[in-house]
This record gives sequence, C-alpha cells and structure tokens, in this order.
Amino acid sequence: MKLSVDLARCEGHGLCEEAAPELFRLDDEGDLVVLFDASAAVPAEHETDAASAARVCPIGALRVRSE
Ligand code: SF4
Repeated sequence: MKLSVDLARCEGHGLCEEAAPELFRLDDEGDLVVLFDASAAVPAEHETDAASAARVCPIGALRVRSE
C-alpha cells in the first residue's frame, strides 16, 4: 500500500496526526510533517493507521493507493 500526500491541499487540521502519529506530525507552525517516504510503500505495521488517516482527512489530501 502507498499513501499519497497532497501537501498543497493540506489545511493543517491534524486529524491524520491523531490517527497515525507514527506517520504524521504537525510542527510548531501547524505545518504537516510527513514522517515516512511517501514515494515508497507504507511500512506494513502502519498500514491500518495510514488507512485511518486517509479516511479522517476532511479535505481528502491523503489517498491510499494499492500497489
Ligand atoms: S488531516 Fe488532512 S488536512 Fe489535516 S493535517 Fe492531515 S493531511 Fe492535512
């Protein structure tokens, strides 16, 4: 599974950080920091959290792609 992140659309709601704290963090300015390599597959142990993050993002900035 891959998870694409559209940083240009991200509005910093932070729900992805709550759903997947190992994958996302908001910095002190409220900007999203991606903690994994979005060009590679999501580590298997984080796939469930990645799917949850994509589901809760209110603007659809995160998209799951099966590979
Ligand atoms: S939930 Fe979506 S809009 Fe909010 S910080 Fe994460 S990617 Fe950005």
